[in-house]
Amino acid sequence: MPSHIASGLKYLAAIELKKHGFTQQMIANELEIDRSTVSHYLNGRNLSWHSIDVAKTITNLCPKDFLIMTHYLFKDEQKTRKIVSICKKKKYCGEIADSCIGCGLCVDLCLMKAVNLDSLKAHINSIYCCGCLLCEEGCPTNSIKILEVNNDREYERH
Ligand code: SF4
Ligand code: SF4
Repeated sequence: MPSHIASGLKYLAAIELKKHGFTQQMIANELEIDRSTVSHYLNGRNLSWHSIDVAKTITNLCPKDFLIMTHYLFKDEQKTRKIVSICKKKKYCGEIADSCIGCGLCVDLCLMKAVNLDSLKAHINSIYCCGCLLCEEGCPTNSIKILEVNNDREYERH
């Protein structure tokens, strides 16, 4: 069952990428699946609609639960980052206060690899941040503030 739900998440990601103008081959490359599977997804053939409904429910959870559930289902950090980046509902940015001591804990806590340290100060890359708040909650000096960005998000390719 977990693998069916993971497929449901891939289906949702494929539909999202299609909305952003990706071709079938580009979607296949991005999600690391066969082009024929993408074709099935986009044409609605041989799909487990129950699993897709469960996957939709997962994407509508709060960002932290969505991230943790996806990580549990895929058991792979890179795939988790990909699915969450594509299917996240909002864009986020982070502000780091001068009280940051450069301990690096937030870098270790971030499953999305959205945090890096530069000159002993944390920086958050809003392209990858999914708003899970794991860094904000774990920072020993309360130096992180994660904010929602109020504009339509686009999935950026890299
Ligand atoms: S966890 Fe807090 S104090 Fe440590 S590097 Fe990150 S922002 Fe700075
Ligand atoms: S909220 Fe923090 S831990 Fe979560 S994705 Fe954004 S930077 Fe990473």
